[in-house]
Amino acid sequence: MLELKNITKSYKTGNFKQVALKNVQLKFRSHEFVAILGPSGSGKTTLLNIIGGLDHYDTGDLLIHNKSTKKFKTCDWDSYRNHCIGFIFQSYHLIHHISILNNVEMGLALRGISFKKRRHVAKEMLEKVGLKEHIHKKPKELSGGQMQRVAIARALVCNPDIILADEPTGALDTTTSIQIMNLIKEIAKDKLVIMVTHNKELAQNYATRVIRMCDGKIISDSNPVLELEEEPKKDKFKKTSMNFLSALYLSFHNIRTKKGRTFAISFASSIGIIGIALILSLSNGFNRQLKVLEQNTMAAMPIVIQNQIEARSSQEETTQEFEEYPTIDYAIKKEKPKEVIKEQNHINKEFLTYLEKINPTIISGISYSYYTRLNVINKIDDKVIPIDASILESFPKSLKEENEGFLSEKYDILAGRMAKVKDELLLVVDSKNQVQEDIIHALGLGSEETISFEHILESTLKLVFNDQYYQKDGDFYRINPNLDSLYDNKDTLTLKVVGIIRLKEEYKDYVDTAGLYYMNDLPFYIMLKNKDSAIVKDQQNKEYNVLTGETYNIANEEGQILKKQTLAFLGDESIPHTIQIYPKDFTSKEKIVNYLDRYNDGKKSENQIIYKDEAKALSSVLQNIMNAITIVLVAFSAISLFVSSIMISIIMYISVLERTNEIGILKSLGARKKDIARVFNAEAFLIGFSSGILGILITKLLLIPINSIFYHLTKLKNIALLNPLHALILILSSVGLTLIGGMIPAKLASKKDPVEALR
Ligand code: ADP
Ligand code: MG
Repeated sequence: MLELKNITKSYKTGNFKQVALKNVQLKFRSHEFVAILGPSGSGKTTLLNIIGGLDHYDTGDLLIHNKSTKKFKTCDWDSYRNHCIGFIFQSYHLIHHISILNNVEMGLALRGISFKKRRHVAKEMLEKVGLKEHIHKKPKELSGGQMQRVAIARALVCNPDIILADEPTGALDTTTSIQIMNLIKEIAKDKLVIMVTHNKELAQNYATRVIRMCDGKIISDSNPVLELEEEPKKDKFKKTSMNFLSALYLSFHNIRTKKGRTFAISFASSIGIIGIALILSLSNGFNRQLKVLEQNTMAAMPIVIQNQIEARSSQEETTQEFEEYPTIDYAIKKEKPKEVIKEQNHINKEFLTYLEKINPTIISGISYSYYTRLNVINKIDDKVIPIDASILESFPKSLKEENEGFLSEKYDILAGRMAKVKDELLLVVDSKNQVQEDIIHALGLGSEETISFEHILESTLKLVFNDQYYQKDGDFYRINPNLDSLYDNKDTLTLKVVGIIRLKEEYKDYVDTAGLYYMNDLPFYIMLKNKDSAIVKDQQNKEYNVLTGETYNIANEEGQILKKQTLAFLGDESIPHTIQIYPKDFTSKEKIVNYLDRYNDGKKSENQIIYKDEAKALSSVLQNIMNAITIVLVAFSAISLFVSSIMISIIMYISVLERTNEIGILKSLGARKKDIARVFNAEAFLIGFSSGILGILITKLLLIPINSIFYHLTKLKNIALLNPLHALILILSSVGLTLIGGMIPAKLASKKDPVEALR
């Protein structure tokens, strides 16, 4: 079944060439017990290794079942070893970090046999060699004879045709040797056993054939195979393959034997993970906080649409070049910079009608501001005086019922009630119940430091319409000098303070709304009354300001705009200059923005309405800063991740060196390069995985004190929070990086020469 044809093998060490086998010509039967005798260095081991496919001949041929092996590829040799050969070594060569049962199973695992079946077969085999009680022990817990029994069990478990034993009793005492020899003889009944030995007696007593070697040559053969002998034919053997799970199992047990070191490596390489995870948690938390802030500000910060009139000075480039810091004794005339007035938005009737049709449920309040001046007077210390109308502000109105929603949602009523109609005022005090001095004064509330709510609720202002407020005086108009007569005039509107309110505490960080407010429909009413007043009618026909006398250059746009502004100021303009839309909540805001965008769809840019979303602008700036910081910090931590993957690479390399013997054993059992690489990749996988998990766990632990520090500093709970997706990605990238780091050492391991590895 096995035939060596003219085999030569030599080793090169430096310049020296050592011939180990010279023209070896041998033939073996399928069932015989061959003993090879010879002095040390005669080439016995080399011969055995070549027969076993661990080592390869230089010239000649090895015929297996009459088939030449000249064209054998590595994988053919691997599966030949796995299926046809069982090795027994002098020094046992067991994998020390797994149980003897696992050792015996290994060959079966490499064959791809299922876990259940291989466990059964391996147990049976260990029972046969008399180790039934020891199957869960590690090799080092056994005696030499027992270890050799394990090796025999391992050699037999795959039911190979050929058993190759290299001085199997060389390390054993005489009695144990005899036991082992009996065991081998027993199995030799239906197999080809080739045993190398020093011991002539053993050879003579047990073997059916004795071959003597010297200096790499066969010098005698007690029972050579004759040409006439017929050999039974045999089928081709299958390819070996170890699945990743078995590789993982092997690596897991190896790692278990070095718990401390594995933990240290995992911890070291988890530092990068921890760094990134912490940064991501913090930025995640901050972004979440920003969202909350954005949502809260939303209530206070409206979407603003402004009919802004911008005055920009455009200085034309002076065509003539003048010297700087000249030493001249004259001055040079310079042109006056031109003011360019531009309107940014064209809020018009069409837009206003469009806006009125917005879904009222998504808006908590809307406020229109007009240029219309409020002619306000009040009796203070028995003297009626004009009041600066800028102390009055407009309250956003709700599109739903009477001003509810917006007001009661955001404000606490301290005294009185909410305003309902146009002649009612609301006083908003700040968080400390403070009211600005000029408001107190305008309301005629005296000079005391504190004013009772009761007192405030009695105060009023008087609103006078244009025809009473302005008096014609030649070509101009002036404010009626007899204000006293207007105070109790029937055409004067009395504005009463009906309620004192304060912004709820939850909104205090976002806006300060203290002030005196009228309801949003008051300006409509005033415009309705004033647009037909004498002063407005007159102003329409004049090319100068009827109050100040300033002339308008109607020929150019600038003058027209200025005139329009004055008219608007006097009440002849029902288009607001600013619209503020207060969204109900976060999602409503999106809807409002979408609604506004739909208005702009298909419109020319000059007819589009531009809106400002300050809350968004603010938080997006913060968010951008946060994101930038996150990227920088993550990049820094990624460096430590990179360093740790280099470290893993080195550690893996050391592991490869340490496990050289194991690599040799696996190869002798028929492991392919791929399987060996798999064992080390599995180890890298385990290290990467455990460092990822460890990193995430440590991060989770660190987040507890970090959050408590943040809580003390900012009163914000659980700022730093690890996104589970981030955690998963980090674990995966830890696995990925260690796999990359372990790739080169794994490749190195797989390329190891089995003969070298076993020596
Ligand atoms: P034996 O097993 O009979 O003691 P070996 O087969 O191990 O002898 O060795 C035969 C010869 O080949 C010896 O001289 C040995 O030094 C040499 N030899 C074996 N393996 C190697 C090797 N890997 N490199 C160099 N020389 C080797
Ligand atoms: Mg030897």
